[in-house]
Amino acid sequence: MREIIDKIDYNFKTKFYYNYDTSKNVWFRTGGKAKVFCIVDNEKELSIILKNIGDIPYEIIGVGSNILVRDNGYEGVLIKLGKNFNQIKLKKTSLEVGASILDINLSKFALLNNLKNFEFYSGIPGTIGGAVKMNAGCFGSETKEILIDIKTMNNKGEINTINKKNLKLDYRQSHLPEGDIIISANFQSNYGDKNEIEKKVNEIKLIREKTQPIKEKTSGSTFKNPKNNFAAKLIEMSNCKDLSEGGIFVSNKHANFLINKQEGTASQIEELGNKIIKRVYDKFRIKLEWEIKIIGQE
Ligand SMILES: Cc1cc2nc3c(=O)[nH]c(=O)nc-3n(C[C@H](O)[C@H](O)[C@H](O)COP(=O)(O)OP(=O)(O)OC[C@H]3O[C@@H](n4cnc5c(N)ncnc54)[C@H](O)[C@@H]3O)c2cc1C
Repeated sequence: MREIIDKIDYNFKTKFYYNYDTSKNVWFRTGGKAKVFCIVDNEKELSIILKNIGDIPYEIIGVGSNILVRDNGYEGVLIKLGKNFNQIKLKKTSLEVGASILDINLSKFALLNNLKNFEFYSGIPGTIGGAVKMNAGCFGSETKEILIDIKTMNNKGEINTINKKNLKLDYRQSHLPEGDIIISANFQSNYGDKNEIEKKVNEIKLIREKTQPIKEKTSGSTFKNPKNNFAAKLIEMSNCKDLSEGGIFVSNKHANFLINKQEGTASQIEELGNKIIKRVYDKFRIKLEWEIKIIGQE
C-alpha cells in the first residue's frame, strides 16, 4: 500500500500518515490504528488518490462524532477532507456548503445572513458530509428537509451530482452509492427573521446542555430510535442504566449515550452495546440497531 501512495504523493499538498492512531479523530477518544490516514487538500488530489487506490479499502471520516474504529485497527486508508472542502457560497436561491464545514459553523453563517431552517445544526457536532450521510437531525428538523442535492466523488475519482430524491434520505440513513465521498451539499436558502433564528439556536443550546452529556467522550445516540419508540426509554426500562464495561458507562443524563470515562476501549463500547441490545430484546422483543458506524477488523 505504501508503494502506491509513495507513487502518488509526489508534490501533493495532501498529508499521509502511516499506522495512525485514530483515537485522536473520534469523539469517543478510543479505537485502533489506521494503516493509512490522509488529510486530502483538494478535489484534484482526491481524484488522483481514488483513481490510483485500486483494491485498497478506504473510508471517509468527518470529525468522528458518530464513528468508532475497532481496537484491531483499519487495514485501509482513512480519508479526511481538508481545508479546500471548507467553503460556503451563498448563491441566488441556494447555499453551497463544503463537506468539511462543521454543522455549527453552517448554523452560525445562516444566522449571520438571516437564513432560516439551519438552526438545528447548532445542536449537532459533526460535519456537513457526515450530516448528509446520516441525515442528521434534532428537535424536529432533519437534513433532508433543506437539502437540494450533493456533489460526490466516486471510487473512480469522477464527480457526480446526486439529487435529494435519489439519496433516499430517511431516519439516520441515506442511500449514498458505496465508495462515494460527499464533496459539497447544496441547500435551500430561505430568509427569515434574525431574532427568531437566534431564539431557536439559544433554545437548542439550553435543551442540549440540560439533556445530553455534551462535554463527555461519547458518540451521541448509540442506537437508532425504533419505529414509534425511543431507544433511551427502552434502555432505561430494561435496567441498563447502571451497566458498564471496563471504562465505558451508560450516561446518567441520557441512557442512549455511552461514555468513555476511564480509558475505555472500542471493544468495551461494542460489548456494552451488545449487552444493552440483548437486555432490551429479552424484555421487549425489540432489536436495537446501532446508529454509530463501526469500522475495522473484529
Ligand atoms: C454529543 C453528541 C451529540 C449528537 N447529537 C446528534 C443529534 O442530535 N442528531 C444527530 O443526527 N446526530 C447527533 N450526533 C451524531 C453525529 O454528530 C452525527 O451523525 C454527525 O452527522 C456525524 O458527522 P461527522 O462529521 O462527525 O461524521 P463521522 O462520525 O466522522 O462519520 C459518520 C458517517 O458519515 C460518513 N461520512 C462522513 N463524512 C462524509 C463525507 N464527506 N462523504 C461521505 N460520507 C461521509 C462516515 O463514513 C460515517 O459513515 C451527536 C454526536 C455527539 C458526539
